[in-house]
Amino acid sequence: MMETKSSHSRQWKIGRFLLTLTVILLAMAGKLLTSNQAAKKPQVVMGRLVCLDSDAVEAPCAGAMGPWALKTREQKVYRLQAGKVLHTLNREERLRTREFRVTLFEIPGSGEFEITNALLVRGGKIFSFSYFCPVCHITTYTLGPCPCCQDAMEYREKEVGPAE
Ligand SMILES: [Zn+2]
Repeated sequence: MMETKSSHSRQWKIGRFLLTLTVILLAMAGKLLTSNQAAKKPQVVMGRLVCLDSDAVEAPCAGAMGPWALKTREQKVYRLQAGKVLHTLNREERLRTREFRVTLFEIPGSGEFEITNALLVRGGKIFSFSYFCPVCHITTYTLGPCPCCQDAMEYREKEVGPAE
């Protein structure tokens, strides 16, 4: 009788401990999720691709290897992280513009932004652009050969609307 009671009491204690642990873990997970969401909140920004010097001041782009930034009409400067999209905006001559509307994610602690989506702005209009492989029927958004057959991709653009 005594043994049963003590065993019940122990089970109850373990149960309460596990419940407390669960509550704490859920609270921690919630906090983590919130801070991640804050860091990963995207921003849609329109501006011109510019070069920076070592003091993060706008500099001539001739022969520049970076760092790069997007400068808005309000003179706000977003320093950009090197990546496939930035490489495409820099190297794709068929874009025929230096002005873009991009989706940016701030990389926590770096002061840099990653471009996850880019539209080109030319002649007061916004265009989406992509690359298509007619052999594999694959669409990509960055410069390079077809990831499937390694053939050259067809460049395509489509008007999205006015640049306001
Ligand atoms: Zn292909």
